[in-house]
Amino acid sequence: MNGVDDKTEVREYFNATGFDRWRRIYGDGEVNKVQLDIRTGHQQTVDTLLGWLRSDENLAGLTICDAGCGVGSLSIPLAQEGAKLFSSDISEKMVGEAKERASELGLQDNPAFAVQDLETLSGKYHTVVCLDVLIHYPTEQATEMIKHLASLADDRLVLSFAPKTFLLTILKRIGEFFPGPSKTTRAYQHREADIVKVLESCGFKVKRTAMTSTKFYFSRMLEAVR
Ligand code: SAH
Repeated sequence: MNGVDDKTEVREYFNATGFDRWRRIYGDGEVNKVQLDIRTGHQQTVDTLLGWLRSDENLAGLTICDAGCGVGSLSIPLAQEGAKLFSSDISEKMVGEAKERASELGLQDNPAFAVQDLETLSGKYHTVVCLDVLIHYPTEQATEMIKHLASLADDRLVLSFAPKTFLLTILKRIGEFFPGPSKTTRAYQHREADIVKVLESCGFKVKRTAMTSTKFYFSRMLEAVR
């Protein structure tokens, strides 16, 4: 399967069944046990990053590009703390939900939201963030995405991805044997060494790292700085 097909599939998924599934997971209503586990794990990733950014004590006015912002789980709290957010997502449904959530909280122009494929983003930002997006793309395509995101980041790039480890590979196989009703898109894992190599080739070095693992959610996060 080539990259274009992956992207079309991902966009269609997040505008349809994926939207319903993830809007609930990234919300606070009732969900099943697996979804609750994923919600908890994802929130941990978001909270870890919020903690890093807050501890730098320079959030007010900081320009941040949140690429693949979903329903705004990260963008909204960052905007509330005074950072200037440009938040985009390939799915218009996800962006629509993010806008609604922001306006319910009284946020008007910040975050600035756009429906946009991250590979078409332009401009310069102090920080570029891309959380839990690369899982939808094979490493070759993810590499191109990282290179592009790096070109937008003056100081810092934060990425998260599902790490390629033996245990996860087994779990994924088992998952593929029992595709349930909440079946998601294909999930690609990435080798950390590959990701670090791309970051270094773009002039970044890894500063802070974190790993979130729950039963059904695995996300390795790297903060890279110039
Ligand atoms: N980063 C958010 C959402 C993660 S879900 C968070 O952590 O809360 C993954 C999101 O990536 C979905 O909303 C999906 O529509 C978006 N996405 C997938 N491929 C994309 C691409 N090529 N460009 C922009 N967004 C993309």
